[in-house]
Amino acid sequence: MFQNNIEYAKKQDADDKLAPFRNKFHLPKSATGEELIYLCGNSLGLQPKITSDYIKNELSDWANLGVEGHTEGKHPWLPYHEFLTENMAKIVGAKPSEVVVMNTLTTNLHLMMVSFYQPTKTKYKIVVESDAFPSDKYAVESQLKFHGIDPKEGLILWKPRKGEDLCRYEDLEKIMENHGNEIALLMIGSTNYYTGQSFPLKKITELGHKNECLVGFDLAHGAGNIQPNLHDTGADFAVWCTYKYLNSGPGSLGGCFVHERHATNEKLNRFVGWWGHNKNTRFNMRHEFDALPGAEGWQLSNPPILSMAAIRASLDTFAEAGFENIRDKSVKLTGYLEFLLDEMKNDAINVITPRNPEERGCQLSIQVKNADKNLHTKLTEAGVISDWREPDVIRVAPAPLYNSFEDVFYFSEKLKEVLK
Ligand SMILES: *Cc1c(COP(=O)(O)O)cnc(C)c1O
Repeated sequence: MFQNNIEYAKKQDADDKLAPFRNKFHLPKSATGEELIYLCGNSLGLQPKITSDYIKNELSDWANLGVEGHTEGKHPWLPYHEFLTENMAKIVGAKPSEVVVMNTLTTNLHLMMVSFYQPTKTKYKIVVESDAFPSDKYAVESQLKFHGIDPKEGLILWKPRKGEDLCRYEDLEKIMENHGNEIALLMIGSTNYYTGQSFPLKKITELGHKNECLVGFDLAHGAGNIQPNLHDTGADFAVWCTYKYLNSGPGSLGGCFVHERHATNEKLNRFVGWWGHNKNTRFNMRHEFDALPGAEGWQLSNPPILSMAAIRASLDTFAEAGFENIRDKSVKLTGYLEFLLDEMKNDAINVITPRNPEERGCQLSIQVKNADKNLHTKLTEAGVISDWREPDVIRVAPAPLYNSFEDVFYFSEKLKEVLK
């Protein structure tokens, strides 16, 4: 169905109802002013053009109103995080009461593990996928140590089989069969940052719960990329960041999901702060802590409004496009990229990401035999912004909101050129 020529790519762009969204973003340019092929939205999403107005509005309320901006601002700062909740909940498929934007990803992961990792003498192990992002692995290891458990003893890796790149669900079942009664928590990435593999979240949650384990997901590469349907998975918690597919700026705040069954669960440990306290008595100061029900009850501090303004701009853009449309285009655009890579018929390249669109988002991880970082440098010189992971993988992620079929076509041409 796809065709390997520029006319076809241009025709797809002409027929694409999301094509006008490209112009709503700032696209990075080379030193000589040419537009680059930006395929790095999995690392840092591009800036929506409306973001600066959203931030300027808060700067001007601050300039004009000072502290009164908390209540008198156009978007008052006191409840500001609430303006993000509904749109964010849609993106991850959750109820608004289950979602809050706060802190950053790794911080939220720790807060969630304080609540949802409560090891006992016999049930204390944590399962992570073997290629987990380093920060997640460090966080999990340090939680184990915090409870006096040696990570060598307490950490179980869900690994691909020898000679394979992807994790198989059956192997997680095997782990649960053999160690289910020792495992307290499954902490899995939803879409793996390295391979691009998306895991079956609902099946994993059911498997974990059947074995009386709690289950949490890291959606850093899932949020804004796939539809994780968090509520329906039944997962206990999830965390994500907003600077990758959610286009909210470097280091911007993270998102956090707590399933509604835990909304008022007082048996959970938690580290708390005043922003998680009952809104009606928050400013009476000397009150005993009274947790807000739902995910909001895990908030610690009054949040950075400038960063939240950028998230609001981005979420408004997502809402305008509609996540289902975004995902539809994504499946097609990444399918086109895969087709063009197949067309190259080059034995040196091997796409390690699953071929089934249900098992991936927009990223393809391309392994290049005997390549080194030189390859990435050459691609950069050719005007492609991609991402290199040692030892031999280029990650490219055509983001459906701003990437075009033409981008994907020219990328494949440039890769061909560089591999010669
Ligand atoms: C990007 C990413 C992080 C980064 O964590 P921060 O706390 O936002 O710096 C962590 N985990 C995964 C899986 C990621 O992809």
